[in-house]
Amino acid sequence: MIINFWGNLKELLRPPFKGQKRVEYQLTRQASVKDIIEALGVPHTEVGRLTVAGREISFAAPGAKDDTLDVYPLSPPVDVTTPTLLRPEPLPGLTFAVDMNVGKLATLLRMAGFDTFYQNYISDPELIAVAVRERRILLSKDTDLLKRKEVVFGYLVREIYPERQLAEIVHLFGIKGQFKPLSRCLRCNGLLQPVGKEQIIEQLEPLTKKYYDSFRQCLGCGKIYWPGTHRDKMLLVLNRYGDYRALD
Ligand SMILES: [Zn+2]
Repeated sequence: MIINFWGNLKELLRPPFKGQKRVEYQLTRQASVKDIIEALGVPHTEVGRLTVAGREISFAAPGAKDDTLDVYPLSPPVDVTTPTLLRPEPLPGLTFAVDMNVGKLATLLRMAGFDTFYQNYISDPELIAVAVRERRILLSKDTDLLKRKEVVFGYLVREIYPERQLAEIVHLFGIKGQFKPLSRCLRCNGLLQPVGKEQIIEQLEPLTKKYYDSFRQCLGCGKIYWPGTHRDKMLLVLNRYGDYRALD
């Protein structure tokens, strides 16, 4: 069968197909289009739409020798709350589970106020279990992890630097306008709520005590935040990468 990989998907193909838009695939056994695409190197999470002769098909459709399959990438802004043929059960909202290989991205997402699960030294099966149970989008640099069939919503992070990774995710999901700095704890993902200075004054460093009057505290772990801590950095990232364009 002939398979066309559109957009940046061709970069994910395994050698010797990498970079080729059109692949001639020898069907040797019965296989679903999901299995065929993944055997060529592209995790199913990266696919936004599949068509044969212009007709949309699902991942489970069997590959057929005489077909030409078109594989399209995710098209920003991706809305995970709307059902599609490839992902008929949408997510209730936009929340993330972040793999260790993009750990700093987790901190930046929390900084921007997005509900983000992250745990150091978690096994792949445990991470997948959290993503599935809590209906989160799995973000990773591990293509094998994203090929697992339990993973329905996921994304292979392409960028190397954490701030560009944040910009990549913001662009993909179209969430530039949804930043809520100072709403979530960087340490535990808990929600922050305003707290009176007098209630926490004992825990403040002298300069913080002197220059700040507005504080928030994590409902989960008790950590205290104030505007100087990360709002400025967030604005810097936004200003620098607000007009991010994926390299596709
Ligand atoms: Zn916390």
